[in-house]
Amino acid sequence: MSTASSDPNPNRPAVKAPPPPSIEPCSQGAWRRFRDRHLFDYTAAASRLWLAISLGGALALVWALSTLAEAHAADRQPLWPVLLGMGLVAAAAMFPVKIPRTSYTVLVADVFIFAILAMLGAPAAVLAAGTEGLIGALRSSKRLSTRISAPAAAMAAFAVGGVAYSQTHLGLRGLGLDAGVAELAALCLVAALPVALTTGLLMTMAALKRGQWLQRSEWIGAQSWLVAMNLGAAFFAGLVQMNAARFGPAVLVIAVAATFGLVLLLRMTLSRAEAEHGAQEAFVASARRDAELSQQRFMAAFTHAAIGMSIVKPGGDVLQVNQALCVLLGRAADGIVGMPFESLLHAGDAALFNRQADELTRDDRPFSMEMRCHADDGRDLWVALHCSRYEDPGGAGHCHIYQLHDITSRHLAESRLQHIAFHDGLTDLANRTCFHERLELAVERSRLDPGERFAVLFLDLDRFKIVNDSLGHIAGNELLREVARRLATCVRPNDLVARLGGDEFAILLEALHDADDGMRLAGRVLAALSQPVSINGTEVLPGASVGITFSDHGYRVVDEVLRDADLAMYAAKAAGRGRVALFDITMHEQVAEKLALEADLRHAIGAGQLSVQFQPLFELEPYRLSGFEALARWTHPQRGNVSPAVFITLAEESGHIEALSSWVIDHAVQQLAEWHRCAPHMAHLNMHVNISGRDLARADLPAHVEAVLKRHGLPGRRLTLEITETTLMGRLDVALQTMEQLRKLGVRFSIDDFGTGYSSLAYLSRLPIDSLKIDRSFITELQDKPQNMEIVRAVLSLGQSLSRKVIAEGVETIAELAALRSLGVPFGQGYLLSRPLDAAQVPALLFLGATAVP
Ligand code: C2E
Ligand code: CA
Ligand code: CA
Repeated sequence: MSTASSDPNPNRPAVKAPPPPSIEPCSQGAWRRFRDRHLFDYTAAASRLWLAISLGGALALVWALSTLAEAHAADRQPLWPVLLGMGLVAAAAMFPVKIPRTSYTVLVADVFIFAILAMLGAPAAVLAAGTEGLIGALRSSKRLSTRISAPAAAMAAFAVGGVAYSQTHLGLRGLGLDAGVAELAALCLVAALPVALTTGLLMTMAALKRGQWLQRSEWIGAQSWLVAMNLGAAFFAGLVQMNAARFGPAVLVIAVAATFGLVLLLRMTLSRAEAEHGAQEAFVASARRDAELSQQRFMAAFTHAAIGMSIVKPGGDVLQVNQALCVLLGRAADGIVGMPFESLLHAGDAALFNRQADELTRDDRPFSMEMRCHADDGRDLWVALHCSRYEDPGGAGHCHIYQLHDITSRHLAESRLQHIAFHDGLTDLANRTCFHERLELAVERSRLDPGERFAVLFLDLDRFKIVNDSLGHIAGNELLREVARRLATCVRPNDLVARLGGDEFAILLEALHDADDGMRLAGRVLAALSQPVSINGTEVLPGASVGITFSDHGYRVVDEVLRDADLAMYAAKAAGRGRVALFDITMHEQVAEKLALEADLRHAIGAGQLSVQFQPLFELEPYRLSGFEALARWTHPQRGNVSPAVFITLAEESGHIEALSSWVIDHAVQQLAEWHRCAPHMAHLNMHVNISGRDLARADLPAHVEAVLKRHGLPGRRLTLEITETTLMGRLDVALQTMEQLRKLGVRFSIDDFGTGYSSLAYLSRLPIDSLKIDRSFITELQDKPQNMEIVRAVLSLGQSLSRKVIAEGVETIAELAALRSLGVPFGQGYLLSRPLDAAQVPALLFLGATAVP
């Protein structure tokens, strides 16, 4: 018989024992012991039914055995077919064919049982059913109760079914059916009865065990498969029986062999299919497990990542965020999820971000960018954002996954470094690099579109060096800072003011409509810098010379612009400082000429093109010759006489001044020594020689002077070196040392152009100075300028109080001379008294000139 498991839970633990049965089925101790031991989990009703089934089974067994025994005894009916049939049933019952993944089992033993019923009668069928029931119970349950009730129910059911079959068979024969057909029909008609009875009994018992009645639907539900199987078995058994009756027992042998063959093949096929299915299920399960693990790992990585992460839906709304992102933005997850991601960004960066995000959606091109986000506390955070696209497994479409990394501190450090790299540490103005870069852009823009005009102003402070050297570096720095502040106030917001280095500044004016705008700015700058700055109580005039150039010259590179602005600035300085000069193309020619002249100057000394003129100096009261000032002259082979104002400056700039000064000193000393020799009454005459600031910085000057004096045999006190006031102040530190050394040789010093420079009375008393030469500008028309008279008077009294001689230079008229005399100026020099003379003209003066009073 085919059956579902008769006891759904055969190994129920003892602890779940139900309340003691209310009605004792048997008062005997043995029954109670049996029940306690084997039916401990049965309710009283279930126990009673169990007992009834068992008794019914026992009765059926007794009936079957006795009937068979009787028949054997009476009709010598052989018992071996019964035993053989039971053996076949037992063998078939050992190999149930379980239909995979269902609770259904095909028991071919049923075929044999129905065949036995048809061929050997109901008693044999009862035994066969009992055998099948027993083997099934032995296989499926360890409990004695089940091992008794299952075969018992089967035997009882088959006893009833067997009787029903016999009666049906007889009835059908009575209706005139053929024996074989009647048997087949009877078998089919009663096929359902035994299985319905068996399952009915066993399922009722199981329901009672649970304290319930068997539900009809439950019982009917279990029937369809079993009835179908039994109907099939009965039909097949009937066919075999018919054929065996007709063709002999060989059919039986074939049927048995075919049945077992079928069972074996079926079991093999099903078990292979089951194995394959199992393997596939295992594979699917492992794949599912892998997927789950990978999902879990992803979630763990997402949740615990140190980097902020967010998954964003195709529409741009945030789908999911991790903890790190919440911490980064200082917001709770619910405050972010569902919001447009864009709303987290700084408005200035959102447009670029959206463009990139669109590209990512379209072309799957991952991108990275640095941008600002809003933190909850209103701060702007700098983040490095990396975006990539992925297909959402939940069907949301192309989602974006964003990784955000806080780079605020790096960004701050970078912008600090950037600031340092592009700004001047002292003034915080843009530095040369920054200026260069901005100017480069401006040049490029105006190259592409000449309408994009710009101007560059190049500034050089006129008196920075003096301040730095006389008041110290700290004061110098303060002056630069103040200049920077003033420049910044002069310009428009988009103009760039830079300190290029030292005391050089530059201003870039862009989007210039009018050249006059540039000139006006230059004027404003000069005005701003003409106001005094108070540094440590000293009032200083910064003053500047400004060169300016415009993009109209068609510049192609930055260096050209700076070169021209610089040239213009030099032109402004040359024109007398504190001015603005506009670059024009002739400045290039001037530079070229200057370079050529400079090259010529290099050869001039050796080529004998230099000479010296001597301008006499006179004592005014009584009027007599007191000395000469040596003035260098350059007669250029092509250009003729070059003004000393030109070639002296050129020599200073090009570094030839040392050679020139040495040569003039040598020549002048030699001349004076010679004149002393030929006119011994003129031994009091002095020789004034001009030296430049660079000469004072020369370490070898004292040695040279000493050698020259020695060579020509002139006492040192007869040589006076003239230094302009400005030069001296600019090199006070080095000058002092050199002056002291020369002083030891007896050499004297005179301050040239006195009154034009940066006057500080303090240094006058400290320096080894013998005379002050009042600048020509104060002497010109002196008699008509009470202010100049005042100045000359002041210089005189200063000279007297410090015991310095005073010389007036540039005396051109008698009126000037008279004024000087009336003021009591002791010495004079000028065209009125004598023009500079060639050396050859001097001897006449030595013998005659002293008497010629103007
Ligand atoms: P300085 O030292 O002030 O020299 C006096 C200049 O004034 C000379 O011009 C001289 O010719 C000129 N001068 C003299 N009397 C009068 C006058 O009554 N009216 C006018 N208008 N000018 C007068 P010079 O020779 O052209 O020299 C110009 C400057 O060149 C000198 O000015 C001096 O600074 C420099 N210099 C000349 N020779 C030398 C030299 O050998 N070495 C150095 N370092 N500088 C020199
Ligand atoms: Ca001079
Ligand atoms: Ca002078």
